[in-house]
Amino acid sequence: MTEHAVVIAGAGPTGLMLAGELALAGIDVAIAERRTRHDLVGSRAGGMTPRTIEVLDQRGIADRFLAQGTTGQNGHYSGIFFDTADLPTRHNYGLGLQQHRIERILADWVIELGVSIYYGREVIGFAQDATGVDLAVSAGPPLRGSYLVGCDGGRSLVRKTARIAFPGWDPSTSCLVADVEMTSEPPWGLHRNGGFHSFFKFEDDGPVRVMVTEPRIGNVDEPTLRDISEALVCARGTDYGLRSATWISRFTDATRQAATYRDRRVLLAGDAAHVHFPIGGQGLNTGMQDAVNLGWKLAQVINGTSPERLLDTYHAERHPVAARVLHNTMAQTALNGPGQRVDALRDTMAELLGMHEPRMRVAAMMCGLDIHYDLGDGHALLGRRMPDLDLRTAEGATRVFALLHEARGILLRFGQPWAFDISPWAHRVSAIDAEHTGGWELPDLCQVPTPDAVLIRPDGHVAWVGHGAATGLRDALNRWFA
Ligand SMILES: Cc1cc2nc3c(=O)[nH]c(=O)nc-3n(C[C@H](O)[C@H](O)[C@H](O)COP(=O)(O)OP(=O)(O)OC[C@H]3O[C@@H](n4cnc5c(N)ncnc54)[C@H](O)[C@@H]3O)c2cc1C
Repeated sequence: MTEHAVVIAGAGPTGLMLAGELALAGIDVAIAERRTRHDLVGSRAGGMTPRTIEVLDQRGIADRFLAQGTTGQNGHYSGIFFDTADLPTRHNYGLGLQQHRIERILADWVIELGVSIYYGREVIGFAQDATGVDLAVSAGPPLRGSYLVGCDGGRSLVRKTARIAFPGWDPSTSCLVADVEMTSEPPWGLHRNGGFHSFFKFEDDGPVRVMVTEPRIGNVDEPTLRDISEALVCARGTDYGLRSATWISRFTDATRQAATYRDRRVLLAGDAAHVHFPIGGQGLNTGMQDAVNLGWKLAQVINGTSPERLLDTYHAERHPVAARVLHNTMAQTALNGPGQRVDALRDTMAELLGMHEPRMRVAAMMCGLDIHYDLGDGHALLGRRMPDLDLRTAEGATRVFALLHEARGILLRFGQPWAFDISPWAHRVSAIDAEHTGGWELPDLCQVPTPDAVLIRPDGHVAWVGHGAATGLRDALNRWFA
């Protein structure tokens, strides 16, 4: 048997991001992955939204992704495009980058950090006891972890074995996706015709990514090129001579969320915890952000900094975030439906998205920048993401995200330094005196008065805001770092 503090089932984007977060905190973590290596063809997600790029920037690795993708300053809501250029973030754009490239970059990062990825080892069962979880795997010796995190996708064996309910809605639509060659040029872009179909390329000399709504739902056979051809002929009267598929898959708008993200020593993250129609490109983003919320908390529980109840805040904070994603994808799917009444509703929505305030609110939601954890009453910043302010410190110019690279808590004090002894928490929190000139703009038009100090969690969310005195700081430090 091989033992690790944490075993993660699944080396998709969520599992890899979580492994990186745990390894940064010095935790012994391994991933058991069913695939024998990371795929080089086929790729579900096509990119990342601004908050995910921000969290990668918080770890100092955003450039690795930006160097391989293309950026664009627009997002869309059910195919209605809007501008993101005036979102108040350094990363006011989406990144087009195929999921298999995202996974490769993340895998290289976690291997640098010392994470073991056991490829070709499917988790086939587990049993938990008072001190850990024994895992049965399809090859090699069994594994044991103090904790098991199921990042094993929408059909999660971990979720099913833990008997965690997955309530939600059955599919109302089914789509095919493939990477193909085409003899004649298709009409590039996104088209609606009672369902939708789209044609685009990730790379100029790469295959055509075709997506098309299937004429009927409920088909569970492996999809074939012929299925795609028939669906395209049904939608457009031609299949554009499609051939040579390198990847074919099917997805639906089944919309479900795990009733709980934790059962004692077993946790769920990413698609294992929530599935929805991929409209608006939010699944991979939500999963990677689940991982950044969970990683530092699990690390602190394992290394004895925090009691186990810190893990309950993971469900409390992230379940509502994914519930909102499920809600907006259901609304977008309805808006994508057939009929002149839906067309009228789309016109209305397009008109609204042409106005500043509705556009900013929807853009902040779709880009993940407006996430606001409920940390109680208080300053408007409490529970929100900390903006990446430019700072001057005794060591020179820096910015907030650079201070988060080591995934530690940061107590940032502006103006006059004040007397507060941080040493009882110094193993997890760094206190930094800094100056910032300029405003604090939040993405959904919320105005914030400039505070005198903020306590920032390792995930970049604000845990305490100070005015003049350190009132409440001790409680906040104890709540999150003791
Ligand atoms: C057509 C399409 C387009 C999409 N586009 C976007 C987009 O643009 N943006 C976006 O944010 N999201 C998008 N998504 C959603 C996105 O692909 C998923 O949300 C994302 O892959 C979830 O990541 P994950 O790591 O949680 O799960 P997965 O990517 O499913 O990874 C799970 C991993 O676990 C492994 N595994 C499974 N079972 C076991 C087991 N028993 N033992 C060991 N390993 C196991 C799998 O091999 C896999 O590597 C899209 C989805 C589709 C279908």
